[in-house]
Amino acid sequence: MAPTVCPNCWRDKTENQQICTLCESTFASDLKWLRLNIRDLEDYTEKRVGKRNGHGGGGYRASEPVRVAAFDLLYGQSDENGHQGLDITLRCFCACLGKDYSEHDTPYDLTGKIMSGPFLRNSGTPVYAKEIHRLKTKARRFLDFDDEEKEILGPCPNPECGVQLAAPVGVVEITCRHCNNKWTVGYLRDQRRARILDSGRTGTSIELQDLLAQCGIATKRSTVRGWVHHKRLTQAVDREGNPLERDGKPLYRLADMYLLATGEMRKADHTGDVNLWELVGKKNEQTRETEADHE
Ligand SMILES: [Zn+2]
Ligand SMILES: [Zn+2]
Repeated sequence: MAPTVCPNCWRDKTENQQICTLCESTFASDLKWLRLNIRDLEDYTEKRVGKRNGHGGGGYRASEPVRVAAFDLLYGQSDENGHQGLDITLRCFCACLGKDYSEHDTPYDLTGKIMSGPFLRNSGTPVYAKEIHRLKTKARRFLDFDDEEKEILGPCPNPECGVQLAAPVGVVEITCRHCNNKWTVGYLRDQRRARILDSGRTGTSIELQDLLAQCGIATKRSTVRGWVHHKRLTQAVDREGNPLERDGKPLYRLADMYLLATGEMRKADHTGDVNLWELVGKKNEQTRETEADHE
């Protein structure tokens, strides 16, 4: 049998294969991944998420943009490139395979139906393998991002509680799983910000990184090194302007690192030795001006 070329890549395939062996195994593992993870995506389209996948902080509500992104990924009709969402793609492939399905079937059900029989040798296999791989990659990025970007918001403000609260990025409101009080994420962030900016604390970059992590702000070691290298994070100084150090290691201000880590310093990119406090002052002035404009 003469080898032919896989329509989805440059590799050889046999004549009775629709796609090459490698593309076949990618397709199978994509479907497996979707079957395991697609309900987490479905959760995001609902008003309250976190019931099934046990994210911290009790139940929470995803913000509108996050809900819309998850909804598009699942049920989008056609994006800017003419690509369609998972639901319609899985439905069409089910039809190709001659599977029975109903309008009530969720993407999770549809994936299961596809996997319940042979799906590699259909004439639609090359197209759907490609589309489903694209959608799976997008979905994985969406869910991974969420895991990485989970933010610990600090203690529950209820004085009788104080449990650590955490929520994935994009969440606007959380319920404390301990005392059942509801807090907006914005309020919890403000509380955290005030604690940190008032602290006057200094430390080595590693110590501060650990402290920020405890406050719920994760930074990568390489990112912090980059800030130091590009002088965005500058060594703390005493009242006489002498640089502070301990055991030969430079000390930095927790407040400075906090502002960088939370992106409040983004505007100061490439400006070198900018004075943080001046910048914060300016920002407040601007806010006041904008507020005044609206009066
Ligand atoms: Zn291939
Ligand atoms: Zn609480």
